[in-house]
Amino acid sequence: MSRTFPLEKIRNIGIIAHIDAGKTTATEMILHHTKRTYKVGSVDEGTAVMDWMEQERERGITITSAATTCHWREHCINIIDTPGHVDFTAEVERSLRVLDGGVVIFDGVAGVEAQSEAVWRQADKYGVARICFINKMDRIGADFQHTVTMIKERLRVRALPIQLPLGSEKDLRGIIDLVENKVIAFADPNSASIEEGSEILLAKHRQVLIENLAELDDQIMPLYLDGQDISASQTKAAIRRLTLSNCIVPVLCGSALRDRGIQLLLDAVVDYLPSPLDVPPISATDPRSGQKILRLASDDEPFSALAFKTVSDPFMGRLVYLRVYSGKAKAGAQVLNASIDKKERLGKLYVMHADHREEIDHTDTGSIVASLGLKTTSTGNTLCDPTRPVLFESIRFAEPVLSMAIEPKSKVDQDKLDDSLAKLTMEDPTFKVYHDKEIGQTLISGMGELHLEVLMERIFREYGVRVNAGKPQVAYKETTTIPVESEGRFIRQSGGRGQYGHVWLRIEPGERGSGFEFRDQIRSGAIPKGFTPSVEAGVKSALQSGGLAGYPVIDIKVSLYDGSFHEVDSSDVAFRMAAFMAMRDGMDKAKPVILEPIMEVEITTPNQFLGDIIGDLNSRRAHIEGIESRDEFSNIRCLVPLAETFGFAGDLRSLSQGRASHTMCFHRYEELPKDLAEQIVARMGRTK
Ligand code: GDP
Repeated sequence: MSRTFPLEKIRNIGIIAHIDAGKTTATEMILHHTKRTYKVGSVDEGTAVMDWMEQERERGITITSAATTCHWREHCINIIDTPGHVDFTAEVERSLRVLDGGVVIFDGVAGVEAQSEAVWRQADKYGVARICFINKMDRIGADFQHTVTMIKERLRVRALPIQLPLGSEKDLRGIIDLVENKVIAFADPNSASIEEGSEILLAKHRQVLIENLAELDDQIMPLYLDGQDISASQTKAAIRRLTLSNCIVPVLCGSALRDRGIQLLLDAVVDYLPSPLDVPPISATDPRSGQKILRLASDDEPFSALAFKTVSDPFMGRLVYLRVYSGKAKAGAQVLNASIDKKERLGKLYVMHADHREEIDHTDTGSIVASLGLKTTSTGNTLCDPTRPVLFESIRFAEPVLSMAIEPKSKVDQDKLDDSLAKLTMEDPTFKVYHDKEIGQTLISGMGELHLEVLMERIFREYGVRVNAGKPQVAYKETTTIPVESEGRFIRQSGGRGQYGHVWLRIEPGERGSGFEFRDQIRSGAIPKGFTPSVEAGVKSALQSGGLAGYPVIDIKVSLYDGSFHEVDSSDVAFRMAAFMAMRDGMDKAKPVILEPIMEVEITTPNQFLGDIIGDLNSRRAHIEGIESRDEFSNIRCLVPLAETFGFAGDLRSLSQGRASHTMCFHRYEELPKDLAEQIVARMGRTK
């Protein structure tokens, strides 16, 4: 089982961009230059190779990450396509988790948009090294320097141009390559007019680049201070070191649509983005001992991989995408799913290209492969050598913020609907389904209106079920606001064996977004350790429904600090009940409040509509964070409660004659104003 590509020649990258920045077009061009596709697809005609799901074609947006492998300068580049729409943030999150590097594409006219900012922060979290590509330099209004400034200011990074556009808009004539110290002309390489002005620009900006590198890089600094010439290869090596350590982000430019700068972009992927050897070894836990271990990126290590995506392919069945972190494995080999402690067969293995699959007989370190035949493995699970088990941290996903009741249009479709919902929830961890048995209703929930809409379309197209949908409902939550201590006793002595559970819990408000945290602080042996999981289970079941209006309780810390037990009568059930009772009482005393999801909204509008749009936003309880104006356009950034965003897209269209655009993504949960909370409590019928 020899490797086709040495590890240092592998690049696992994601192309990250705000919707419409040109990610699909750029990917198409990359695939064209790496000879994977012979006919360049066009997004505008809906034929792009990467957008393989039908409704993506119609909407012209890329929703599902398709992994594709291509080759450039004897390197193997695995591209994980990440969606630009933040309603699909789980997709972005899971791809970022398995990437080593990212190409972030910006629209040279629009600059840095809200969603790019959100994805940038996610990439920061995973320490992904990045290069930026400022696209659409051929468009009217494209402004390279302005976009670089926006990247620096909004994303707070040291963005370092390593290229400059020569000319702009229709007159985009070439690219000035500050690293190779040359001008690449598009139309006429011998044109004297290009050379004249560009030489001065090149010298000036190369000097700025070298000064920046000298300031940051120990190897360049002495050369610079000695006044020595710094060669292209020395410059490249320094940029690589600084990019890998996340000190700088090199900035490139071009036009994907006109195929300008794409080969240079591929060069930069190879030259500056990390191989699996350049990223820190992945840390894991030994599921048997609970000890931390590291898995090095090497074929000699035991096999370990993370399942980062599951797709139900209508023709093939269930495909699980894996990132192999260490070791190698043959197709059909037995592996351990350490997340659920079950052995499985790897099944058939494929390298995925955008338009076809290539079956392979084994997989090795650093690869991205799809496996067919894994039955119980789902997104976030760790697969490993059964004799050397490891468990990686699972991928965490945001809780859905919006839900909607659905039913099939005809009763005969119920089974098909259940089947489709089961498959879709398996693929998408931010999509949840809840059956309310009492009223016989099915509720689906997700990350926004578009998310739910796309899922409904998939239910129809892929499974042929037509559904009726109710109005979307906001997923409210509850939390507590003051710390309390609470006692729970579940003691029954009625002949025979009794029941005895007794706990003292400390219930404290947690930070926003912290979810739920449980601590066992029993030191004295007041309750044997064996009962702790039952106490935690009792606490968790109490959190499912808060005392105010029955919404789930979040952002809360619960510590078990005292209690008592009985040698004979204590049982798991008794401690579970005691904890449940302590929580119910405690949460009532801890001044509970209702939380609502707040969305981050960014609107771009011609200035003449600004006043009307602000008026509309104010009527939606919006908090305006900032307004920036450039030329005849303004950009409004604000926070709006999700409950107030319904119908916003339509209103914005009519207020601006269809000329304003907006993006929306989940920001955080915040306390609902008192009067509205009272209305909800009254409606839910839980007033005390
Ligand atoms: P995505 O949403 O990021 O995948 O963006 P697409 O690749 O679908 O591109 C969005 C739109 O911008 C399409 O109409 C493209 O034809 C257009 N586009 C992409 N790249 C360029 C470019 O370099 N120049 C111009 N003028 N248009 C572009």
